[in-house]
Order: sequence, then C-alpha cells, then structure tokens
Amino acid sequence: MTPCPLRLLLPGLLLAASLGLSAQTRVEPPKNRYTIEQDVQMGREAAAEVRREYPIINDPDIDAYLDGLGKRLVAVAPPELNHPQFQYSFTPVNLTDINAFALPGGPMFVNRGMVTAATTEGEVGGVMAHELAHVLLRHGTANATKAQGFQIGALAGVIAGAVVGGGWGEAISQGSQLGLGTWLLKYSRDYEKQADLLGAQIMARAGYDPRDLARMFETIGRKSKGTPPQWLSSHPNPGNRSQYISQEAALLTIAAAADTSGFAPAKARFEALPAPRGTTGSARGSSSGNVAVGTVGRPVPAPART
Ligand SMILES: [Zn+2]
Repeated sequence: MTPCPLRLLLPGLLLAASLGLSAQTRVEPPKNRYTIEQDVQMGREAAAEVRREYPIINDPDIDAYLDGLGKRLVAVAPPELNHPQFQYSFTPVNLTDINAFALPGGPMFVNRGMVTAATTEGEVGGVMAHELAHVLLRHGTANATKAQGFQIGALAGVIAGAVVGGGWGEAISQGSQLGLGTWLLKYSRDYEKQADLLGAQIMARAGYDPRDLARMFETIGRKSKGTPPQWLSSHPNPGNRSQYISQEAALLTIAAAADTSGFAPAKARFEALPAPRGTTGSARGSSSGNVAVGTVGRPVPAPART
C-alpha cells in the first residue's frame, strides 16, 4: 500500500516543530505528595529560624539590588510552575563561604562570598536562577516524598537545624535529625540537571547568557582549590554540566540584555562589609569548606551592623 502524501508530510512537520529554535528541554516537576501550602509553610518556618541564626546583612542598597535581581528572574519563571502561593524573598548573608540556598516555597539566601566571587551579574543571576528552579520544581518536598515517615510539622525545624548547624555536609555526621535535613536539601544529580536546565531557560528569558551559570560553576570549582565548597556538596555536578548547559543555551533565544550596571557597585558594597565575627573572613572559608556560623545549639555571631 502506498502511503498518502499527508502521511508522509506529517511526521516531517512534527519533526521540524520539535527541532524548532524554541525547542527548549521540557522540565517536569517530580512526584510530590505535599501541597503547595506545605512547601510555603515549611519554607517560611525554616527561613525564620535561618534569619534568627545567620548574620543577615541589613543594607538598603544591597537589599534593593538582590531583591531586584531575584524579582527579575521570578517574573520570567514558567507560569505553570510559579504558584501564586509562593512567597519569595532574597536575603543577603554576611558569610564569605561561596554559598546560596533556597527553601521550599521561595525564601532564598545568598552569601556575600557568592557575590564577591562572581565576575558578572549573569554569574550571580545564574546561581539564583538555579536555586529558583529548585523552588519551582519543589525539589525539597519531592525529596521528602521519596522517603518514608516524614511529618510535615517536623520538616521545617529539621531543615532549619541542618542549615543553621554549620553546613549540611557537616550535619550528616551529627545525628539522624540533622542528617535528615541535610538529605532533604541535598539534591540528587537528576534534580541538579533539572535545576540547571530550567535555570538556564529562566536566565535566557531574563536577558542573561545561560552560559554564565556554567562559568559560575567553574569559578566556584576553581576558588575551592580542592576543598569542595558547601554549595557544590549540596548541588552535586551531574557530569558534563558546562556541556549540557551550553547545549541548552544554543536552543534558547536570549531576551534583550538585562541592565547589569548595578552589579559593580553592589559587589563593591558587599566587599566593603565588615567581616562577620566568628568566621575566618577568607574567601574559602574554613578548612571544612564552611565558614563557621556556630555549632548546633550554641549562639552564632550577631548580625553585622551596617
Ligand atoms: Zn542545585
């Protein structure tokens, strides 16, 4: 039987459509048995604890800069993933460890060390877009979904305990409670790749070159000089990270370039902050890869006054 011309034509059209310039990789949220509201509640409680324990920077210029950058990324997040219940915040922390993290439902914390290690706004924006992707894809509660016996009420405290306890990497060895929280925010390589790809897509829509994300990973790796910084231990490299980010970038149309004129003054302002008490003040942090922020159950340095 001779196929009719339409049957010959149709697969070709579909193929052309799937190879089109806008054929970005489709990133689907993993299975999740929690509600959006539970993400938000958990993140809000954990964030309150982090704010009590961490040396939060109170500087209107830095706040405005970080908030502006964060909101620019959120504004171009895929609407189907950006639930209206999410409560975003972008909080600068006076720690020199190259780290940033986001809690379920939206609260994001960015260390001074992350900004001062970056050479362009796109690099900071890349890490923030990657963190935002974890929030959008609800990876924290997706992790909890994979495990047995988590109680929603306990999760926020466990997450906060792990974050505040001086680093997720260290927390593993400090008991099952903290190990649990560590595990909740330590992402699998599958989730990492999802956050990289969705982060790259968000960057392009916000007017940044997604390859800046790959460059920031290289910067973090270079600055760590053999000691993996906390960020890399909780966001493990799925392998070929730079390569697949570049491949994704080639599929994306980058929007009109973002105005990055605020980056240099903001970075200078971060660099001029007083070193937080109780930390090494070095770019690398302590030999464990984390700047000490105290130990579990002990007071931590007071927030720096600006
Ligand atoms: Zn990650």
